Amino acid sequence: MFQKKIKTYNLLALFALISMQTLANDLFEGQSGEIISIPASMQKKSDVLTFKTSAGIRQLVSLPFVKQDHLITRYHVNVKVNWVNFGESRITISDESKVTLSKEDQARANKEAIEIKEALSNSSIEITPSFNFIAPVPGVITSPYGKQRFINGLPRSAHLALDLNGSVGTPIVAPLKGKVVLVGDYFYTGLTLILDHGHGLFSSYAHMSGIKVKLGDLVEQSNEIGLVGATGRVTGPHLHWTVYFDGNKVNPESLIQEGYLSSIL
Ligand SMILES: [Zn+2]
Repeated sequence: MFQKKIKTYNLLALFALISMQTLANDLFEGQSGEIISIPASMQKKSDVLTFKTSAGIRQLVSLPFVKQDHLITRYHVNVKVNWVNFGESRITISDESKVTLSKEDQARANKEAIEIKEALSNSSIEITPSFNFIAPVPGVITSPYGKQRFINGLPRSAHLALDLNGSVGTPIVAPLKGKVVLVGDYFYTGLTLILDHGHGLFSSYAHMSGIKVKLGDLVEQSNEIGLVGATGRVTGPHLHWTVYFDGNKVNPESLIQEGYLSSIL
């Protein structure tokens, strides 16, 4: 029994050593919610963009939001996702019906979640995203990405979007060229719009007071798409801006830095 245990420990130690060596030879890392570049996969899929860099052909991958340090594999490449202390925020929603949902509202929210998921499931390969975003509204950030949310004292999912300050009616512009793939009035996010920027890059705009485009429209960077509002479940007017890439909600804050794409390649 004792001998067997030792053997198990030896095997575990050997496995850990091999894993560490693989990581040391091929170490890629980034922050929770970030986009990084890794060597392009040999089995290139048609929807995956590649870039020629001094380090070879690269492709972009998104790192999921994690609550602690994680080691993941993307396209056979080991990536360490570093946890960031994003902090927490506590909000009070006085309308209890928006916190503890009625059966009807829950059914509506579930149906809408499926609709949103479907809109995000198919990305155009006709549009090539530049990844050089501009801010959709000039407002300051009121709630950054990643904060652990507490609503009326109860822990909820982390805030995987960026809240930008703006008064009702402030114009929202397309931060990047895209196609309108969802327009609607939703339980949580109010008047909502989703843009497909191509190759798995999407952005969504929530709580708007007005929408200036329609389903299927192609919009250029800086075209007006809607107006800041306070529709859906909110504590006040603001733009809740979500960016999705490669299947994850990524941190929009870094995307609006000048020269973003070249900084990650
Ligand atoms: Zn928000």
